[in-house]
Amino acid sequence: MTGAAQFKVMTPPPADGSTRARAGRLTLTHGVVETPQFMPVGTNATVKALDPDDLRTVGASIILANTYHLYLRPGHERIARLGGLHRFMAWDRPILTDSGGFQVFSMEGLRDLDDDGVTFRSHLDGSLRRLTPESSMAIQAALGSDVAMVLDECPPLPAVWDKIEAAVSRTTLWAERCRTAYRGPGVPFAIVQGGTDRSLRERSARELVALDFPGYAIGGVSVGEPPESIAEVARFTAALLPAGRPRYLMGVGRPEDLVEAVASGVDLFDCVMPTRNARNGTLFTSEGRINIKREEYRADPRPLDPACGCEACLRYSRAYLRHLFVANEILGARLNTIHNLTFYLGLMSAMREAIGRGAFAAFRESFLAPR
Ligand SMILES: [Zn+2]
Repeated sequence: MTGAAQFKVMTPPPADGSTRARAGRLTLTHGVVETPQFMPVGTNATVKALDPDDLRTVGASIILANTYHLYLRPGHERIARLGGLHRFMAWDRPILTDSGGFQVFSMEGLRDLDDDGVTFRSHLDGSLRRLTPESSMAIQAALGSDVAMVLDECPPLPAVWDKIEAAVSRTTLWAERCRTAYRGPGVPFAIVQGGTDRSLRERSARELVALDFPGYAIGGVSVGEPPESIAEVARFTAALLPAGRPRYLMGVGRPEDLVEAVASGVDLFDCVMPTRNARNGTLFTSEGRINIKREEYRADPRPLDPACGCEACLRYSRAYLRHLFVANEILGARLNTIHNLTFYLGLMSAMREAIGRGAFAAFRESFLAPR
């Protein structure tokens, strides 16, 4: 292990089995992350529409950046020469980077996969590029990530069993190569694959746990399967992972998905939903979702969410937020993003607080009750 990482479970799940939710503290190179925690997505070394001060104000303690995008533009070597990703984007708290594999595997027809790695064409200029377990780890080390994700094979679902089985085998081989190759300032996390097949998930988890990683992700979910199978895969996969290591459910999702996954013992999340929806005018509130572009908000003087203390809700009316959206003003994207991330990070904080006082089962029941 080259970097520093330590995970401590502060509040373990209750003995009565009413929930598997736990609260923990993950110490990384650039700071401490209280779990359960949500990571805003900063694809291009920016969480769209926000600067680092905004991110701190909404309560972000760790963000995710995308290796694929930064490798292609502006290039990891350039970022390294400019002092690393933290310096480059002026964010001094932890950063987790994905391996780049998810984007490459989403490009059906644009890639050529073999046991050594994957060759693909850049979506920017069509140039031929290659990603291997070693090069993915070298890129993430150059960026200076606190958590580097291993390169895995993530087949889009639905897929035939043979294809998912082959992806599990390759993911284990690649995880071992990533573990050996990693020379960065952070720590590598492995990714469990296996689609919705229980025996393949068990095999993938068993093989990766034997490699003794500092953390484990549940991958290959939210890639085309229905929401109820996301929750089920998260539930049985989380239970296969060691209690003393952080568990990260990749790419999920809606607020109710986060609550269900925390109940299954998941600690970390990322999803584009709060930020992307904000830019599309879909806002999460304590009373459900609001589509701010609707006619009914044209003259509405009320705050977006009276229960929210963010800048958008404290200072402005729904009518103003609707106006900004309709007029395509960039302030609208910023305020909406601040609000949605305040909602998501506030939800995580409320869950941590409920876990801490032994009241998570009641919290979950009340959150998921029909409104
Ligand atoms: Zn708000």
